[in-house]
Amino acid sequence: MPPDLGQGGCSALGDGVILARCLADVLLENSTCQRRLDSENEDEYRRTKKGLDNYAEKRTWRVFDLICTGYMLGWIQEYLYKIVYFEPKFARKGTTKMEVNADIVIVGAGISGLATALALHRLGIKSLVLESSNVLRAAGITITAWTNAWRVLDALGIADSLRQQHGQIFGGDDEVRCLKRKALLEALAKDLPSGTIRYSSKVVSIEESGFSKLVHLDNGSTLKTKVLIGCDGVNSVVTKWLGFNKPTLLGRSAIRGCAYYVDGHSFEPKFDVLVGNGVRFGVVPCDHYAVYWFLTGSLSAQGNSTLQENQLKLKQFVLNKLGKVSDHIRAVVEDTKVEEIACASLGYRPPLEVLFGNISKDNVSVAGDACHLMTPDLAQGGCLALEDGIVLARCLADALLENEDEYKYERIKHGLNNYAEKRRWRAVDLIYTGCMLGWIQESEWFGVRYLREKLLSHYLSELPLKKADFDPKQLVL
Ligand SMILES: Cc1cc2nc3c(=O)[nH]c(=O)nc-3n(C[C@H](O)[C@H](O)[C@H](O)COP(=O)(O)OP(=O)(O)OC[C@H]3O[C@@H](n4cnc5c(N)ncnc54)[C@H](O)[C@@H]3O)c2cc1C
Repeated sequence: MPPDLGQGGCSALGDGVILARCLADVLLENSTCQRRLDSENEDEYRRTKKGLDNYAEKRTWRVFDLICTGYMLGWIQEYLYKIVYFEPKFARKGTTKMEVNADIVIVGAGISGLATALALHRLGIKSLVLESSNVLRAAGITITAWTNAWRVLDALGIADSLRQQHGQIFGGDDEVRCLKRKALLEALAKDLPSGTIRYSSKVVSIEESGFSKLVHLDNGSTLKTKVLIGCDGVNSVVTKWLGFNKPTLLGRSAIRGCAYYVDGHSFEPKFDVLVGNGVRFGVVPCDHYAVYWFLTGSLSAQGNSTLQENQLKLKQFVLNKLGKVSDHIRAVVEDTKVEEIACASLGYRPPLEVLFGNISKDNVSVAGDACHLMTPDLAQGGCLALEDGIVLARCLADALLENEDEYKYERIKHGLNNYAEKRRWRAVDLIYTGCMLGWIQESEWFGVRYLREKLLSHYLSELPLKKADFDPKQLVL
C-alpha cells in the first residue's frame, strides 16, 4: 500500500497474529493441548484450507480499506494541496517540508565555510553550516599553508595543534607547512558548537522572501535566513544565484599523490619544484611519514578523460614526464599506492568577472573557490579561503554590532558590501598571478624558457612567498 497512512508495517504485524490465530484454531480444533497435524491427511488439508479462508475473509476488507484510504490521502495531500497552496515546484513528492529559521546560513563545510563559521563563533555570532556530504570532505590529500594562512589559523586559535602535527618547510619570517586537509578541516570544525554543521544537506535553490532568503534543500526541507553565505566551491549554487558564469576550464590538469613511509622518510623539510617538459612537478614532505607530490600540465595528448579515470595510467604518465630526476624523487612517485593518486581539471574564475561581478548582493555573499577559483600555481586558493573567513566574519560582526539605529537588513547589506570590496582586488591579483606563473612555468617556447631560466628564476621562486605576505592587520578578529 502507499505509505501515506504509515500502516503497511502495522498491517503486516496484524496479518501475522490473525493468520496464526486462524491456523491454530483449525489445527487445534477438537483437541485440548495436542497438535493434530499427525492425523489423516485429508482431514488436515480440509482444516488448513478452512483456516486460511477464514484469515483471508478477516483481512480482505481491512486491507482494502487501508489501501484505498492511503491512496486517497496521498492524492489529496499532493495534488489538491498544490492547487490550494501553490506548492513550490522544487518540493519533492512524498517528502515533509519544514521551514527552519537561522540568522546566518553558510553553504558548504569546506575550508572557507568552516573558517567563516569559526570566525563568527569567536566573535560571538551563531551560524548554521549546510554540507551536502555526510562527513567532512577532505578531497585533495594535502594543502600548502603559507604565512597568510598561519596568521588566520592563529587568529582562530587553532594554529598550535596543527603546528605540532606538521613540520615547517621554510624558516625565518615566513611560515610554510604542508597540512593534511583532513587535519585542517577537523581542527576548524572541532571548536564549533555542536549542531553548527548539518550534514547531508545539499542546497538546490535559493528564493527571495521579503528581507530573508529561502534556502531549499534536496531533501525537500527549507530554511529561512537573514544572511546567506556561499562557500560551496567550484559549482556553487550561491555564485550562480549571484549571476556568475561557470568557471573557465584551462585544458590543464593536476595529478596529486602522497607516499606514506611507516618507518619515516628521509626528505628534508623543503619544497622541491622542477619545471620542464611542459609540466611542473613538486615534492614536499607533510609530516614525518607522508610525502606529497603533484604534477601540473596539459594531459591532452593522452586523452584527458581516459587518463583521469585510471590511477595506474596516471602514475605511469607522471613517471614518464619526470625524465631524468634523482632516484630519490622518482621513488616518491613509485612508492605511492595507486589509490592515493588523484587528478583534477584546472580552471579559474576570470579576473574581470571577480572585479565587476556581484561578490555580494543584498544579504547574500560568497567566499573561497565559489568566489575566486584559481589555478594551484601559487598554492593560495585554500589560504585565500581562510583569509575570506576572517574578513567576512569581521565585516559582518561590525555591521551587526554597530549602528543599531539603522535597519538590520541595511547593516547586513553594508557589511557584506564592505567584505566584497576588501576582497575583490586581492582575489584578482592572486588569480591573475597564478595563471601567469603557471603559463610561464609550463611553456616550452624558447623565449619564455629563456626568461624563466635566465632572467626571472629568482623572482618566480620568491613570488609565492611575496603573495602570501598579506596585511596582518586585516587578519585579526
Ligand atoms: C590540485 C590542487 C592543488 C591545490 N593546492 C593548494 C595548496 O597547496 N594550498 C592552497 O591554499 N590551496 C590549494 N588548492 C586550492 C584549494 O584546494 C581550494 O581553494 C580550497 O579547497 C577551497 O575551499 P572552499 O571551502 O572554498 O571549497 P571546497 O573545498 O570545494 O568546499 C566546498 C564544500 O561545499 C560543499 N558543497 C558543495 N555544493 C554544495 C551544496 N549545493 N550544498 C551544500 N554543500 C555543498 C562541498 O561538499 C564541500 O565540502 C589546490 C587546488 C587544487 C585543485
